[in-house]
Amino acid sequence: MRITGYKSHGVAAAAALVNAVTCADGDDSPAALRRILREHEFFWHEFADADAADFRHWGRTLRPFFEADGLAEVMAMLNGLMLEIPMHPHLADHEPHGLHMHYAPPSSRLAERFRATTLMNLAELIVEHGLGRTGVCAAEGCDHVYADTSRAGRRRFCSEGCANRTNVAAFRARRRE
Ligand SMILES: [Zn+2]
Ligand SMILES: [Zn+2]
Repeated sequence: MRITGYKSHGVAAAAALVNAVTCADGDDSPAALRRILREHEFFWHEFADADAADFRHWGRTLRPFFEADGLAEVMAMLNGLMLEIPMHPHLADHEPHGLHMHYAPPSSRLAERFRATTLMNLAELIVEHGLGRTGVCAAEGCDHVYADTSRAGRRRFCSEGCANRTNVAAFRARRRE
């Protein structure tokens, strides 16, 4: 169950983009960026290889959101971006989300729509949940960010793999003592 319904798709897409663009093992090739758009239900077929630079820039811009540990810092960051990015909120009704909000002007390019949607979805996330749902993976040596859109909201790792690795290491450390 997703906590913020269709809005979660922008939150999860933002985390996936940040990981692709800013992480040591990230793949920010046009093919990988297109896959992120497809997996998170954006209009991936509109993506042209020439758009990759815009998406990479946006991924680097959003990384500090996931690293922030103060709400004031995040509010200032998001408010600044909301001033910079062209917004023209309007209603849309199409698959797979049904009736929902669009935030960028209707004639915008995909990269601009992606920026506006992810920005607003992250803003809505912190309005509802503060900073408790996003962060950098707690596993040793992992630089991935995560966004927790589950109902429980207790996630601290980017993946099951990192959670298991950390738990095994903690178990071994306890046994050595
Ligand atoms: Zn839409
Ligand atoms: Zn991790």
